[in-house]
Amino acid sequence: MFINHEYINEVLEKGKESNREEILKILEKAEELKGLTHIEIAKLLNTEDKDIMQKVFETAGRIKRKIYGKRVVLFAPLYISNYCVNNCTYCGYQCKNKFNRKKLTQDEIRQEVRILEDLGHKRLALEVGEDDYNCPIEYILESIDTIYSTENKNGNIRRINVNIAATTVENYKKLKDKEIGTYILFQETYYKPTYEAVHPDSIKGNYDYHLTAFDRAMEAGIDDVGGGVLFGLSDYKFEVMALMLHNEHLEKEFNVGFHTISVPRLKKAEGMSLDEYPHAISDDDFKKLTAIIRLAVPFTGMILSTRETAEIREELINYGISQLSAGSCTGVGGYKEKEEGKDIGQFQLSDERSPLEIVKSLVGSGFIPSYCTACYRSGRTGDVMMDLAKQGKISTSCTPNALMTLMEYVLDYGDNELKTIGENLVKDEVAFMTDEKHKIFVQDKLEKIIEGKRDFYI
Ligand code: SF4
Repeated sequence: MFINHEYINEVLEKGKESNREEILKILEKAEELKGLTHIEIAKLLNTEDKDIMQKVFETAGRIKRKIYGKRVVLFAPLYISNYCVNNCTYCGYQCKNKFNRKKLTQDEIRQEVRILEDLGHKRLALEVGEDDYNCPIEYILESIDTIYSTENKNGNIRRINVNIAATTVENYKKLKDKEIGTYILFQETYYKPTYEAVHPDSIKGNYDYHLTAFDRAMEAGIDDVGGGVLFGLSDYKFEVMALMLHNEHLEKEFNVGFHTISVPRLKKAEGMSLDEYPHAISDDDFKKLTAIIRLAVPFTGMILSTRETAEIREELINYGISQLSAGSCTGVGGYKEKEEGKDIGQFQLSDERSPLEIVKSLVGSGFIPSYCTACYRSGRTGDVMMDLAKQGKISTSCTPNALMTLMEYVLDYGDNELKTIGENLVKDEVAFMTDEKHKIFVQDKLEKIIEGKRDFYI
């Protein structure tokens, strides 16, 4: 199997030997955007020197700006079923927790989607527990159709990323046919003894089957896959190294690695106590691992959820994170319940701000919140997308799209404050565009958006 535990432990052990000069050279190399070797990653992971860490953050920041510019992509999760046959010890939806399980009807999904559209969302992550009887693939496929076809006055959901349990090639082909965006699946932990311990009496407890899910997804033609680890279940250094090995395995076998890496951190959930998890990660280590992943795989998107506080999210977009969830509910039917003042979620959230508050905060800090889904809609996925990224075209091609979707958001959902700061930011960014062709293109599209003409891809 491609996650060789002995090899990872050996590299991490060797990585304990390093000195300041060596680390500075590794950072110089990272800045060339060529990624890092295993031993280089291990040396960075073993660094405790505060001054060096500051340099790691600064380097990660420069890399992020070089590749992504000022863009930060926003999305929301949509939970449609909390039926689950597994007993993941860290999850509020684990089978042994007794509460009234729920699966949304297609009408209820439409209601949730309209609420999300009213908040300005264009991109969703569809979430379900694992239960083939109560939540079969046919239900998921029908729900995807429902989401894509639910429109309100300001448009519709343009991209659905899907997070369902590891499944068969046949089922992945069905998802592919529904034109999903990214197929997301977290390994939770790559350390097999822990993996088996935290998934007792669970279908999900089959480590090898879970680990090879992306191989089956790729075989089925899904070329955008998003990996991740639930940091805090096991040693974070092991997890980062294993993520890299998994990514390399996909690159070697399918010519394209992770489209995104998510970095959720273990949080309190119903039926578990954080005291039972000895690998809880400090804020400092969490920032460190995020920055090191950015250096190691500079072209891979990185996602941070509302599990983290606004402060940590705002810090981490400076040196790693490229996508944020916004205004999230992790309960089934949670958006409607939130409107009614109740929301029972899968785990505790730490950033409760609305999408509008998050957009204003990002704009205020000089970032460009983006609701763009153009690449996916025009077939730029998998290795095609990675090639664009490697040619440095994300910031030049995506920034115009980000500005257009920001303007769309400002006009459709903005309050007076956002109308002022958002329009100013868009105008300033366009004024500073050096490529005349891009500039004229964007100005033309912005005029159309202002006139209410939205009949083009953004
Ligand atoms: S993490 Fe997923 S599979 Fe595990 S108990 Fe929770 S909902 Fe079920």
